[in-house]
Amino acid sequence: MSSDTRDQYDQVLFPNYSPLLIIPDRGEGARLWDTEGREYIDFAAGIAVSALGHAHPALIEALTKQAKKFWHVSNLMATAPAVELAQQLVDCTFAERVLFANSGAEANEGALKLARRYAVDHFGEQKNQIIAFDQAFHGRTFFTVSVGGQAKYSDGFGPKPGGITHLPFNDVAALKAAVSDQTCAVIMEPIQGEGGVNPASQDFVAAARSLCDEHHALLIFDEIQTGVMRTGSMYRYQALGVEPDILTTAKGLGGGFPIAAMLAKADVAKSLGVGTHGGTYAGNPMGCAVASEVLKIVDTDEMKSRVNEVSEQLRTGLEAINQEFKLFSDIRGFGLLIGCELKPEYHENARELVTLLMAEGLLALVAGPNVLRLAPPLILSDKDMKEGLAILRQAVSQFVA
Ligand SMILES: *Cc1c(COP(=O)(O)O)cnc(C)c1O
Repeated sequence: MSSDTRDQYDQVLFPNYSPLLIIPDRGEGARLWDTEGREYIDFAAGIAVSALGHAHPALIEALTKQAKKFWHVSNLMATAPAVELAQQLVDCTFAERVLFANSGAEANEGALKLARRYAVDHFGEQKNQIIAFDQAFHGRTFFTVSVGGQAKYSDGFGPKPGGITHLPFNDVAALKAAVSDQTCAVIMEPIQGEGGVNPASQDFVAAARSLCDEHHALLIFDEIQTGVMRTGSMYRYQALGVEPDILTTAKGLGGGFPIAAMLAKADVAKSLGVGTHGGTYAGNPMGCAVASEVLKIVDTDEMKSRVNEVSEQLRTGLEAINQEFKLFSDIRGFGLLIGCELKPEYHENARELVTLLMAEGLLALVAGPNVLRLAPPLILSDKDMKEGLAILRQAVSQFVA
């Protein structure tokens, strides 16, 4: 049955994804079963999205409760779920205002438009330079993919939006040389996710903050992957001790229901006045109800210490496997966003390792051709971790053989 579904997929869906061969049937916590009844331990979480795993009872309840009331009214009306979620996001961050969106790319699109509009409002049209970084990933709308740092994703679609400068990541000198009074924004992921799980250094983030201050540019942190406790704090900026002017959050926020948000101070948010920006579905009541519940569960001291404890278990396990098989040149990241870089002799083979892991019953991710990326649900049990690491060891022993 599953191979029929996969064959039919190619007949009726666009060819842009090329999905795996397994067809999911149901999930529970950090476990997923396919239509053949095979069990997988999920260290992928739908690309760092399913923060509370699959079929979390509290999320099902929040969703169905709202689904029975009303699904959609558009932003022609204020809804209680949207206001409640915005209040929670304001309470747990630097922000004073929230703008909802349906996806990470849309939240970043809003952030980039806001930075441009803020510069026009306060300084004039000439202040339009956006500084971004090589290997960055900010989504797939044409503006966000052009700001992203991999030209292969934005080439071939005609003329790109202008005013975008790319610099090497973590290069303080290059950043110093580039930021000027023409710069309206510097955008970065505090840990590059898709680009290889590359953490921004403390120096780099601090330099970006002070250069933005000096030149009246806005600092945008794309925390779409790093946020909602993924990296061991609600948002990575809190651990770095450097506040952005604009923050975008998505992935874990809805625990699997599509919802995203852009956060800013009131003075910055003011630049998106009535009619300047919007979306029909943005702040969908079901999405907001689910995300509210996610935040209630995730934004707690217990969850924070649990994530850091599981992170430690994962790292210790990975180090032990690497001691034995000497496969990785680096194991890095924070919380439950961990990248394992393959040694040069295994370069280009991260995808092959992930395929092997899947065959053994562990779902994992790549971050580029050379990095194995692990982003399990935050609710992983000790047993899930132990069994997941055992599968990983088994697959690695085959991989290096
Ligand atoms: C996933 C991701 C995006 C894009 O989010 P979508 O919901 O796929 O549009 C943007 N930035 C970062 C850092 C991401 O990880």
